[in-house]
Amino acid sequence: MEKQQGATPDRMQDIISLCKRRGFIFPNSEIYGGLNAVFDYGPLGVEFKNNVKRAWWEAMTRQRDDVVGLDGGILMARRIWQASGHEEVFTDPMVDCTNCKKRFRADHVIEDFGDLSTCPNCGLKGTLTEPRQFNLMFKTYMGPVEEDAAMVYLRPETAQSIYVNFQNVQQSMRKRLPFGIAQIGKAFRNEISPGNFTYRTREFEQMEMQYFIPPEQEQQWFDYWRGQRWQWYLDLGMTESHIMWHTHDAKELAHYARQAVDVYYEFPFGFKEIEGVHDRTDWDLRRHTEYSGKDLSYFDDQEKLRYIPFIIETSVGADRSALAFLCDAYHEEEVEGEKRVVLRLHKRLAPVKVAVMPLSKKEPLVELAHNVHDSIRSVGMTQYDETGGAIGRRYRRQDEIGTPYCVTVDFQSLEDNQVTIRDRDSMAQRRVAIPELRGILAKELA
Ligand code: ATP
Repeated sequence: MEKQQGATPDRMQDIISLCKRRGFIFPNSEIYGGLNAVFDYGPLGVEFKNNVKRAWWEAMTRQRDDVVGLDGGILMARRIWQASGHEEVFTDPMVDCTNCKKRFRADHVIEDFGDLSTCPNCGLKGTLTEPRQFNLMFKTYMGPVEEDAAMVYLRPETAQSIYVNFQNVQQSMRKRLPFGIAQIGKAFRNEISPGNFTYRTREFEQMEMQYFIPPEQEQQWFDYWRGQRWQWYLDLGMTESHIMWHTHDAKELAHYARQAVDVYYEFPFGFKEIEGVHDRTDWDLRRHTEYSGKDLSYFDDQEKLRYIPFIIETSVGADRSALAFLCDAYHEEEVEGEKRVVLRLHKRLAPVKVAVMPLSKKEPLVELAHNVHDSIRSVGMTQYDETGGAIGRRYRRQDEIGTPYCVTVDFQSLEDNQVTIRDRDSMAQRRVAIPELRGILAKELA
């Protein structure tokens, strides 16, 4: 369910254009007319998205003793998708307009317009076909022969490789329940109606964690992970009033879930899902036991009990959450009669942490500025700005990409061995001694 509330589509256009102009996100295959619903991350986008993924990995694995990592293949045995139910039920209801030939997801049309009587595109009545189920998995073939027996799917979610590796991980890492397995990786869905920029694409990345528990601890861990995941957004500076919980009612619950909640973010195009927390019971390991013939039960040697673990899943899109952080950070304000666009990204997420800029392109200032730059590279991603021009305009360019600090090297620096640090949010400036600069920045960015 996607609530349309407080929608401000113009703001989305501003963000899309900033992403293109400043090297965050480009349309895929653009010079060939573009490939619908696939995007490429540019130099700043790859830094930014990596920071989102790193923050997730850090919180979900490295800061804990009970969750370990995995990096599974995109291609997996077809039988896995039969066991998981995807081959049978990973479908969306699709309707076509016989007039304008556009295709829609029937559930989205009903949500937005109440029924299927009118085409949302051309507005004609009675032109939408009866809903048909459409499977969202992409197919390809293993080996040289394109025959049914060689058909495999590109994974539509990363979770299944965690389930089928449950025993490998548990035994090799000598893990006792409860413990979790986390994975970040690509997933593919042949979405019927992709859109809203990187919100709904056909190729995307997921960050999923499956937590294996004794059955009687189901509610306790569901509530625990709900709390953890909410806090993650707040820790990374998300405005709390821009996120909300949505609880799945019986109609929305997926076939594997006993209870499920989504985190919704208030995008410029309305409140929409960015993450799901799902109570999957023992459905997954039971099905894989049944379909593979391998016993995936767990023996608790302290309690002397054998059982099939229950699973609590947290599943978030890297691209979707990155887009939410981007929308949340985007601000326009007026400074001294001029518009200032600033991405107030959390320092951990900002693609560039510090930009060093000499006030002039002349020697010996440039040499000093390069030396200053080299001395601070270890604090994180830095940029040397040699574009020249008015310093105010160069600060604005860094504001637009969310750089927390600018360091200006001026003629005075040659005499007093000091530089100016300028803060993105307050725009305050202070002079610091060059030998102390690295330490100061490292502390600010820690
Ligand atoms: P939706 O209802 O939006 O199609 P979903 O409920 O099917 O999403 P899940 O299968 O629970 O989504 O996937 C978990 C997460 O993966 C989502 O919360 C979202 O962040 C991300 N995700 C799913 N589909 C896409 C997509 N087509 N493009 C980008 N991210 C996606």
